Amino acid sequence: MILVLKHGTPPERVNEICAVVQKKYGVQTWPSTGETSTLIGLIGDTSSIATSDAELVEGVARAIRVQEPYKHANRAFHPADTQVSVGGVIIGGTRVVVCAGPCSVESDAQIYRTASDVKTAGAAMLRGGAFKPRTSPYAFQGLKAEGLLFLKNARSQTGLPVVSEITNPAQVELFNDFVDLFQIGARNMQNFELLKQVAHTRKPVLLKRGFANSIEELLMSAEHIMSGGNPNVILCERGIRTFETATRNTLDISAIPVLKAKSHLPVMVDPSHAGGDAYLVEPLSKAAIAAGADGLLIEVHHDPKNALCDGKQSLNPAQFAELMKKLAPVAAAVGREL
Ligand code: PEP
Ligand code: MN
Repeated sequence: MILVLKHGTPPERVNEICAVVQKKYGVQTWPSTGETSTLIGLIGDTSSIATSDAELVEGVARAIRVQEPYKHANRAFHPADTQVSVGGVIIGGTRVVVCAGPCSVESDAQIYRTASDVKTAGAAMLRGGAFKPRTSPYAFQGLKAEGLLFLKNARSQTGLPVVSEITNPAQVELFNDFVDLFQIGARNMQNFELLKQVAHTRKPVLLKRGFANSIEELLMSAEHIMSGGNPNVILCERGIRTFETATRNTLDISAIPVLKAKSHLPVMVDPSHAGGDAYLVEPLSKAAIAAGADGLLIEVHHDPKNALCDGKQSLNPAQFAELMKKLAPVAAAVGREL
């Protein structure tokens, strides 16, 4: 349930109303002050609270029932867009943030070289997997902790904030020292123990949509992280499984405006894992920006043919630089910048 407060309610009165409501109904309160009004979101079991009763609380103009099971992630609870700062880079502002780098960190030299190249081309962040969840146990599994160290070196040399996928709740402390953004991969979107552990930190989380998960399930996973105490969630559409086999996955472009309507959280798009082929990265990136994405996650490798993981969908640095040039006017056309 949401309580819309009377126009001009001063901040001290908002706190008093929260205290009254917590005591009266035994719920948590989540105030949100926007440009024109202040709302208080009620979190907990509100099923027995009559809106007419809540409207009797002094200072409340209107009480509205919220049907969706997600609350913290719900735009109704927080009408303004949320911006998440990742090592000083703002995701969800006017800039479309491009995060680029290899699927996997392969060596210190490789990640540093890629980091410098993508930075020169205009990327704002660096990606690189160290613990790789692979379909085959015989495929390259990542350099693990050493890979995180190499990423951190690349960060200190280039200043680019880094993101890497965490696969195990026991790794939170290790990752905390090395990355600016935890990546929860598609295969772990409903690994609730992992979600709980990253919720205990306040470090931002890039939550990727599972390839067989609905938008509501994605938002419920975000809710796990947010209700656990970490509001810094960035959603990521990375393609879903459909009957179509011409592409690795089907990029759900509609998910971008749907997520934006239902939630205040920033939305990134991963065109590399969606299409699964380098030639698809440019059109899918353009479509994502046009549809309102706040950022892109793009795989770049200096030698895609010999990449240890996902070479087929990786751009080389020259192709990436070319892509950035082509994306700038698309961003400008929708009032954004790269
Ligand atoms: C990745 O980004 O490296 C990755 C494995 O992606 P996903 O979890 O979306 O498959
Ligand atoms: Mn990959």
